[in-house]
Amino acid sequence: MFNPERFRVVLVNTSHPGNIGSVARAMANMGMTNLALVDPVQFPSERANAMAAGADTILEQAQVFPELADAVIGCQRVYGVSARLRSIAWTQLDPRQLSEEIYSAPQDEQIALVFGRERSGLTNEELDICEALVHIPVDEMHRSLNLAAAVMVVLYELRMSLYDAAPNPKDIGRKNASDKASSEQLQFFFDRWDATAKSVDFYKGNAVTVMRKIRRLFYKADLTDEEVKILLGVLTALDEELDKEQ
Ligand code: SAH
Repeated sequence: MFNPERFRVVLVNTSHPGNIGSVARAMANMGMTNLALVDPVQFPSERANAMAAGADTILEQAQVFPELADAVIGCQRVYGVSARLRSIAWTQLDPRQLSEEIYSAPQDEQIALVFGRERSGLTNEELDICEALVHIPVDEMHRSLNLAAAVMVVLYELRMSLYDAAPNPKDIGRKNASDKASSEQLQFFFDRWDATAKSVDFYKGNAVTVMRKIRRLFYKADLTDEEVKILLGVLTALDEELDKEQ
């Protein structure tokens, strides 16, 4: 079953209000309504409404946030949609693989699809909040799609794979989304991990690269809320021991 309420389209720091309107229009075409804007350069705007071509309600209901982390609160799956393939630090999917993954996940999980700036896409720090990177395979010579075109391709694939299809949750030991750790829980855990690793001088100068690999490892593990609590417990115990030693 296709449940559009599960999806949140997140646009980061969009420069042109017309693009925000075109995205709203593409969302309406694909039956989606939840739009989140992170630090938009100009919004609300007449230009956005003009391009929305009747999808004004999506713009009116759009939520605006200062930071990406705020826009994805409550989501169990956060995907960064990117024109550029980065180093191997992120798991990479094309939109069809993304749809398959979502199709086989518990059907009540909240999903954020994060799209970047027109000029420069998403920063590595923004991708750090995403469990995987989604890339639309296009011609090598013309790799960058217009923002709304990229949104359309991703939403179309999701709609095609989820429309009318019966839910097919994988048997991964979870019955519903509330079991999977939310984005904000994971970010909290990563910050704690990073602080503990630094306190024992674990990184030896490679902090950013190593931490990115560690994030990828935990994203792949598809952690539950309970597992994150256990890991936090380990960090707390370690920190207490370290405090005693000092
Ligand atoms: N020059 C920028 C392109 C940004 S296009 C860069 O190199 O990153 C604006 C946004 O549209 C991107 O951040 C991404 O979310 C989406 N987009 C454009 N082309 C895409 C592609 N081939 N695959 C996935 N997303 C794409």
